[in-house]
Amino acid sequence: MAAGQRKIFKITLLGDGAVGKTSLRKTYLGEGFKDGYSMTIGADFAVKRLRIDDQDFVAQIWDLAGQQRFSAVREVYYRGTSGCLLVFDISRRSSFENIPSWIAELLKNNSNRVVPIVLIGNKSDLRATAKDPIMREQSEEYARSLSQWSGFSVPYIETSAKTGENVDEAFKTLLKNIVLFYEKLYAQQ
Ligand code: GDP
Ligand code: MG
Repeated sequence: MAAGQRKIFKITLLGDGAVGKTSLRKTYLGEGFKDGYSMTIGADFAVKRLRIDDQDFVAQIWDLAGQQRFSAVREVYYRGTSGCLLVFDISRRSSFENIPSWIAELLKNNSNRVVPIVLIGNKSDLRATAKDPIMREQSEEYARSLSQWSGFSVPYIETSAKTGENVDEAFKTLLKNIVLFYEKLYAQQ
């Protein structure tokens, strides 16, 4: 790669509506957390420049609308995805149970190719007060089964877009895994 050139990665945030995808993106980009809910229509797009192991990257962060009625719009955004954060809300069990259908949709729209994934249990700040929170062990177990299925490591990270806990960590882990994934892929060619 020529000096000064940057690699561009497309990162998509997937998961049910209201799990905190937009909030995670905003917290990561330092745009601040807001308590009110404003539904993402179609998709939002943001860019972050970063440096990993002395290489410069541009991360395009696509924040897709989770609502089913936008599924036609979503198809376009899966194309060319380098990796994704699969997000559920630890205080809402249905959002955890829906993760497999998000993976199915990713595969369907990405020519059946798996991309690096990090499983995210968001709203960790609600763990103490939620009625029936998803336990960390259960999520870790599920991430392990995803690792076995995909053939590469799928980490599980608990985040809070509200307090900022682990938000940087989540994006950084995904980007590192993307770099590793493509290095391996190119090495095989
Ligand atoms: P999206 O539909 O997945 O993009 O979800 P949003 O980012 O719009 O968030 C949905 C709602 O959850 C909003 O009211 C947010 O303020 C709230 N929210 C998002 N992340 C967190 C979090 O980490 N903790 C708490 N307590 N609330 C959150
Ligand atoms: Mg949103």
